[in-house]
Amino acid sequence: MRIYISVDLEGIGGVVRPEQVQPNHPSYTTTCLWATEEVLAAIKGARQAGATEFYVKDAHARGINLHWEALPAGVYLVAGRTRPTRFPKLHSTFHALFLIGYHAKAGTSPAVLAHTWEEGMRLWLNGQEIGEIAVDAAIAGLWGVPVTLVSGDDRTAEEARALLPCHTVVVKEATSEEGAILHPRTEVLQAIEEQSRRVVERLSKKRASFPPLQLSPPFHLRVEKTQESTGQVNVAEFYNYDLRALFQKALGEG
Ligand SMILES: [Zn+2]
Repeated sequence: MRIYISVDLEGIGGVVRPEQVQPNHPSYTTTCLWATEEVLAAIKGARQAGATEFYVKDAHARGINLHWEALPAGVYLVAGRTRPTRFPKLHSTFHALFLIGYHAKAGTSPAVLAHTWEEGMRLWLNGQEIGEIAVDAAIAGLWGVPVTLVSGDDRTAEEARALLPCHTVVVKEATSEEGAILHPRTEVLQAIEEQSRRVVERLSKKRASFPPLQLSPPFHLRVEKTQESTGQVNVAEFYNYDLRALFQKALGEG
């Protein structure tokens, strides 16, 4: 069984403030270590239930956050710039996509470091506001691959469950955009390992228990961007039958 794992940093356990995910800040090094440990926990759990091959996409900023040297055999790291393809090599032979360290969409409050793609951006797909969980689930859905596990703060888990029949791990409870009650480190890692194992067990019994997010064309994407300095809102609208082409045009990757 093959699992694809996409890893962001804002929803990693222990992360609450923006400087923790910025490469020029001293605390960033620790964040990368924590993120790598969460990935290893997910791999460990999935392996216990029979998964053999993993692709791990380093999805935050420049894509060079995870510790490549810490990843075991059978784990391929998708690092650096991959645009315009968001998930290289992802196709129908994968059984699931996990989203580790994810965050709630822009406008969610309170939610730790909530945003959609970039500062000041909000997205609506066919009239419904979406965040990064929905974008990634929709891309995976094009290959028939379901998102089966999502980790992040409590609001991220809530957003994921409203969208998908997936398992979730809450690593922290948001108290503001830059604050949270952190769940104990050992419990976070245990929960990720445990849920990963359960998801793969369910997948090996019946893949259909996790339907992929498959949306019907035509697609209309509304992109709102608010300039922080002036408060000016710019709106762009995109129309396409091809969802990846739409995301690639509007977001630079899909
Ligand atoms: Zn990020």
